[in-house]
Amino acid sequence: MNERPGIYVHIPFCQRKCYYCDFVSYPLDKGYSDVIERYLVALLREIPLRRSWLNKTQGASNPYVFHSLYIGGGTPSILSVEQIGRLMEVIRRCLPLSEEAEITLEANPGTIDAGELRGLRQIGVNRLSLGVQSFDDVFLARLGRLHNVNDVLRVVEEARMAGFRDLSFDLMLGLPGQDLAAWQETLARAVKLRPEHISCYELTIEPDTVYGQWYRQGKITLPIEDTVISMLEWTGQYLADHGYEHYEISNYALPGYKARHNLIYWQNRWYLGLGAGAYSYWQGRRWGNTYQLKKYHDLIAIDELPEEEEEILDLRGQAGETMMLGLRLLEGVSLAEFRARFGISMWELWPEDIDGFLAQGLLELDRGRLRLSSRGLLLANQVLCAFVGSS
Ligand code: SF4
Repeated sequence: MNERPGIYVHIPFCQRKCYYCDFVSYPLDKGYSDVIERYLVALLREIPLRRSWLNKTQGASNPYVFHSLYIGGGTPSILSVEQIGRLMEVIRRCLPLSEEAEITLEANPGTIDAGELRGLRQIGVNRLSLGVQSFDDVFLARLGRLHNVNDVLRVVEEARMAGFRDLSFDLMLGLPGQDLAAWQETLARAVKLRPEHISCYELTIEPDTVYGQWYRQGKITLPIEDTVISMLEWTGQYLADHGYEHYEISNYALPGYKARHNLIYWQNRWYLGLGAGAYSYWQGRRWGNTYQLKKYHDLIAIDELPEEEEEILDLRGQAGETMMLGLRLLEGVSLAEFRARFGISMWELWPEDIDGFLAQGLLELDRGRLRLSSRGLLLANQVLCAFVGSS
């Protein structure tokens, strides 16, 4: 397969923990600049270690050029431009990035100003993924977000002035107390700003979060399923009417602006993860770096890669993940490409599941591709789970 691998870098710090969040991110109190600098120094040591690993795995003349770099978190915009510049310089030196690489930085609207945005463009960041979440200050406060709607309006204007031509908004739907009209208002205000890319995620309550605790105590309730389905259906129609292509279950893009880095995940291609809590996938092996900061620092200090868990996927495991991830894309999975990649047809591996979902109208076949139907999109988890975990 023609691999065009990507790089993910995890910055596991936030100014404060949002109430619904269970990502690997540590809230930082006063004196946080020392913690961040120390982490960056460790990260800068991990990169050449990963390069040496790559040389051993692929040979020193390995042909891989990386086509995307995604700096996520956490809140990567908590780093200064100078720090992000140092990070990118070492990455470029050790893990060659293509000239046209998509370089994304996740940013929280309240943590970045006009000067920093100009600086980011100058060092080569060409895409910003903004954690907008809502265009309603009441919902933002209820989510525990630190920014407000004015911060979003300001950062979008300043990012455009700094030269950013590729902005992505993360939005959340299905929030406690949110009805269809409230979601419509948020989406309409987002579209008015014409971001090139919009991700719409349904809130899920994770047990080990403030929301998880409030949910168990009955302090918050989620909208009923019918309301969420109406939100999702309306979203698809509204965004299509405004020129956005629905290309992945939760993602929409103006023509030419699909998230190239995220496509690597959905197409089950290779990527290297750097930093505490980052995951990697390379040649059928999936591994995670430790998310514990102390352990991360201790391992890097003795020039050891900070890996903690690993899974080696056999061909069937890789095929199952390719289906589970690929069916998230609205174009689905090509029957011919699947066979060329795994040497077997998907029907030979999952005859009953595929025929069953086709008969129920959850999957459909179109021009040599198997994909979720519109009904299947609403019940996606039920379909996707069938392709992993069984042998
Ligand atoms: S900003 Fe993002 S990563 Fe940080 S706590 Fe909030 S949701 Fe989690």
